[in-house]
Amino acid sequence: MQVEVLIVGAGFGGLAMAHELDRRGIDDYLIAEKAGAVGGTWRDNTYPGAACDVPSHLYSLSFAPNPFWSRLFPRQAEIRAHVEATSRPWIQRGKLRFGWPLATLEWRPERSLWRATNAAGEVIEARVVVAAMGGLHVPNWPDLPGRETFAGRHCHTARWDHGIEMRGKRIGVIGTGTSAIQVVPELAKSARRLHVFQRTPVWVLPRPDWAIPRWLQRLFAAWPPLRLVVRGAIYLQLEALSLALLKPRTAFWARWLARRQLRTQVTDPELRRVLTPDYPIGCKRIALSNDFYPALMQPNVAVETTAIAAIEPDGVRLRDGRLIELDVLAYATGFRPMDLLAGVDIAGVGGARLAERWRERPTTANGVAVPGFPNLFFLLGPNTALGHNSVLYMIESQARHVADLVDDAREAGAARIEARPEAETRFMQAIDAAFPGTAWAGGCKSWYLDEGGHNIALWVGPSLAYRWRLRRARRRDYTLA
Ligand code: NAP
Repeated sequence: MQVEVLIVGAGFGGLAMAHELDRRGIDDYLIAEKAGAVGGTWRDNTYPGAACDVPSHLYSLSFAPNPFWSRLFPRQAEIRAHVEATSRPWIQRGKLRFGWPLATLEWRPERSLWRATNAAGEVIEARVVVAAMGGLHVPNWPDLPGRETFAGRHCHTARWDHGIEMRGKRIGVIGTGTSAIQVVPELAKSARRLHVFQRTPVWVLPRPDWAIPRWLQRLFAAWPPLRLVVRGAIYLQLEALSLALLKPRTAFWARWLARRQLRTQVTDPELRRVLTPDYPIGCKRIALSNDFYPALMQPNVAVETTAIAAIEPDGVRLRDGRLIELDVLAYATGFRPMDLLAGVDIAGVGGARLAERWRERPTTANGVAVPGFPNLFFLLGPNTALGHNSVLYMIESQARHVADLVDDAREAGAARIEARPEAETRFMQAIDAAFPGTAWAGGCKSWYLDEGGHNIALWVGPSLAYRWRLRRARRRDYTLA
C-alpha cells in the first residue's frame, strides 16, 4: 500500500494533522494507530482521578470545539469521549487503520519515500511520515531492586489495572508527581492503609475547578463567540504564566498561594515540613489539587520519605530497615521521555539510525524535523512540550507547519523536504540560550531534563513565540528538492 502521508498515532496530534491535510485538499493519507481505539494519552491513562489541568475550553482542538464540557477541568473519560467523537468522520472515511504498531521506518532514496513496517511485517510506503506518537507514552518502571518479586498486585498509573480490587487493601503509591497527586485522594477514600512514597515534594496550587451549569453550556452552544472569548481569556491567562517560569523571581504570588494552601490544609508541622519543596516553583510540573493535602491528613494515609531500599514479596523495604507491608503497589513514576521513538527503528539517509543520532540528546530543527531524515516530521517532539499552557496549541502549530510544507513541496513539484543543518543548530542554540535562569533550570530533577541536565523536552518561552517561529521557519529552514 502507498499513501502520500502516513500519520502515526490517533491521539489529538494525529487528528490535528489529518484536519490540516484536509484543509489543504490533501486526501491521500492514512492514520496508523497501534491500539484498537483513538485517544492516545487519554485512552491509556485511566487511573482513578485522571483529569487534565488545562481548562476544557482551551484543552480542545480549535476545529472541534465542545460547548458541552461539564467541568472547567475535564476528566479523562470526558476527554476520551470527546476525542472519539472528533475522530468519527475520519473513521467513517476509512482514514484510520487500527492495530498497526509501527516497528520500522526506512528511507528509500531512489524513490524518495519511507517504507514503514509494523510488528507483523505489513508494509505501507509513504512520501511523508508524521510521527504523532505523543510525548509521554512509555511508562517509567523504576529500577528498584526486587521489583519483580512483589507477591501482591501492581500497576502503573499510565496502564491502570482496573481488575485490581483496591477497596480495603494496603496500598503503596510510589511517586508524588502530577499523576500521583490525582490518584492518591481517590485511593485514600477506600484503602485500609495508603502509603505514599515521596522522594521529592511537589508544589501544589489550588485547582479552581467547578461544574459548568447546563444553562452556560447551552449558551456556549447557541452563541459560539462566547466560547471563543472564554478560550482566548484562558489562553492569555496561562500564557502570562510563562513569565513566572522564565523569570522565577516574578513567581512570588504562586509561591504564596501554594504555601498558603499547604499551611491551611496540613495542620501537622512535621508533615508540612516534609511536603515543602526546596526548589523554585515550576521547576517540576506544578500540580493543581484541592484534595491531595487533605488526603494525606487522613488517618489511613502515611507519607513515607525514607528512601526505598528494595521491593520485597511482602512490600517495600525502606533504607532505615522498616518493611511496609502491602497488598497492592501503584507506580506513579511517570514516563521515559528519552524513549521518544517508542522502540521504532528509523533509518534515514545512508541508513543513519535516528536512535543513534539522538543517543546523547534529541536535537531537531524547530522541534519537528531532523536533517538527514527527509519527509519525516514529529508532533510534540523534543523541546516542544510546555510547562504552562495547552500542548494542543503546540500540536496545532506544528500540524499547520507540516501541512504547509507538504503543500509547498506539491506546488514546487518536489519529492523531498529536508531540514537544513543550520536550522537545527539555530533551534538548539535558541533553546539552550533561553534556558539558564528559568525555573526549570532551578536545580530539581525532572523529566524535562536528561541525565546531563540538558533540556530535552521543553520549549523555553511563550507558546505564541513558538507559533511565530514556525511561521517564519517555513521558507528559511528547509530545502525542497
Ligand atoms: P513525573 O512527574 O515524572 O513524576 C514521577 C514521580 O515518581 C516523581 O515524584 C518521582 O520522584 C517519582 N519516582 C520516579 N522514580 C522513582 C524511584 N525510583 N523511587 C522513588 N520515586 C520515584 O510523572 P507523572 O506524575 O506521571 O507526570 C508526568 C507528566 O505527565 C506531567 O509532568 C504532566 O506533563 C503529565 N500529566 C499531566 C496531568 C494533568 O494534566 N493533570 C496529570 C498527570 C500527568 P522525583 O520527583 O524525586 O524524581
